[in-house]
Amino acid sequence: MAKTVLILGDQLSRDYISALGTDSSLDTVLMIEDWSLVERKPYHRKKIALVWSAMRHFRDQLREAGYTVDYRINASIVDCIEQSSEPVVCIEPREHGIHTILLNSGVNFVTDPYWYTSKGDFSNWMNSRTQPRLEQYYRMVRLQTGYLMDGDKPVGGVWNFDKENRKPFPKNHQAILQPYFVPDKITEDVMAIVAQIPNLTGDLKNFSEPVTRDAALERLAWFVEEALPDFGRYEDAMSAHDMYGFHSILSPALNLSLISPAECIDAALKAYVTNAAPLASVEAFLRQILGWREYMYHLYDWLGSAAWDEHNALHATEPLPDFYWTGETQMRCLRTTITDTLRTGYAHHIIRLMVQGNFALLLGVKPAEIRDWFWATFLDAYDWVVTPNVIGMSQAADNGLTASKPYAASGAYINRMSNYCKGCQYEPKVFAGAEACPFTTLYWDFLIRHENTSLATTRLSTNYLALRGKTQEDRDAIAARREQLKHLMASHQL
Ligand SMILES: Cc1cc2nc3c(=O)[nH]c(=O)nc-3n(C[C@H](O)[C@H](O)[C@H](O)COP(=O)(O)OP(=O)(O)OC[C@H]3O[C@@H](n4cnc5c(N)ncnc54)[C@H](O)[C@@H]3O)c2cc1C
Repeated sequence: MAKTVLILGDQLSRDYISALGTDSSLDTVLMIEDWSLVERKPYHRKKIALVWSAMRHFRDQLREAGYTVDYRINASIVDCIEQSSEPVVCIEPREHGIHTILLNSGVNFVTDPYWYTSKGDFSNWMNSRTQPRLEQYYRMVRLQTGYLMDGDKPVGGVWNFDKENRKPFPKNHQAILQPYFVPDKITEDVMAIVAQIPNLTGDLKNFSEPVTRDAALERLAWFVEEALPDFGRYEDAMSAHDMYGFHSILSPALNLSLISPAECIDAALKAYVTNAAPLASVEAFLRQILGWREYMYHLYDWLGSAAWDEHNALHATEPLPDFYWTGETQMRCLRTTITDTLRTGYAHHIIRLMVQGNFALLLGVKPAEIRDWFWATFLDAYDWVVTPNVIGMSQAADNGLTASKPYAASGAYINRMSNYCKGCQYEPKVFAGAEACPFTTLYWDFLIRHENTSLATTRLSTNYLALRGKTQEDRDAIAARREQLKHLMASHQL
């Protein structure tokens, strides 16, 4: 019996076509560009161009391979499903919203073969823990898959290589060249449409994202050859002159399913066995894909959207500062990284966590506001991945479910791991007065604000030891500077 095979915009994989048992002589593949999404959030123009161009390329590849593709432009998913006279099947969506819509429309789901852990196994694992942590989950999946394992022991004798990794860049650090993917006719046509859409973020200048599987594989090959050897050592390093460092920039392609997590892992493991990359880098990369990416998806899915939306464990109530949408601030770290993100739709993990997210955490910005900023501005942002990363990891709004302690840091951390502070008008070591680094003032203010909570006695107890050295006079000066910072922010002078 013929069926309709629904392929969502982030399911652009031939593996999914196979997993859905698509018969090219019988079935119709349905793909829908739902233009109403650009009315929901001020997404980055490059993201919309990326998704629609990747969809159109995938459509053409399927047609070339003999599939019948019903490709609807500016249509509603629900209407298209209702119009189908055949049963509709789809790979189980990652996002709660579309999952519910499709379920209510009678769509049958097939399990996504790209996740290493099933929902049932994750749920059992969660239920067997009092305090689930990424590290335990990651070790379990390493044991299950046998990746970098020597029997039941990790290759190299240790599970992580933090001592070798996480270095700042050396003084003579030079950025490596990125591959440039020249937009073809399909991409140019999409860009022309996107350029006309009002109220979106960023622009389309220098669009060079991989929009096909071949291009994504090319980026993976580039990463393994050029960047992976240094990935681990410098994964936490930041520079005003190099926004990418040795990161893979694979998340947009991975999240569209242009390539699979297994392909990325296999390529990295091959580099290890052929001595093309050191163990410390390969393990660090595996930890991101096999560990964090999987863990975040499963946490998001397991907890459900209502719980994530309501989380605000630290009672954060401040609005998101306007400069997040413009980059116009005197703080060099935020000015540089926000401007880069508004231009490209990218920042690497430590920039997102320790600069862009950290400032919102210290200031006490409403979790949903900073989540929506990340969601709108990044090319790789989808609810399933942006929500646990922002609400859980970055804003600690989930009561410690995602991370053992809030990622709260003063200007001293940023100074140690980057060159942003050089040439900045603020002084990272100073916590009060006009030259004080806002991160440093707000870091102490954050500790003081949460002094009477369990953060002080458990999760951040080491940080609180240093607070003991602050006198009442220091505390008053911190409070005064915090109020001044808020006024400066409100009048766009910070
Ligand atoms: C506040 C905040 C917001 C984030 N928002 C997103 C988002 O919207 N979309 C997104 O894909 N990632 C998000 N991340 C996770 C991570 O920062 C990005 O996946 C990574 O920076 C993408 O760049 P890359 O491909 O160069 O990554 P690399 O550093 O090269 O890492 C390789 C891959 O590992 C995966 N990965 C690493 N860390 C994570 C993580 N914490 N969660 C999920 N996958 C991970 C990504 O697929 C990434 O491509 C966020 C992290 C933070 C702290």
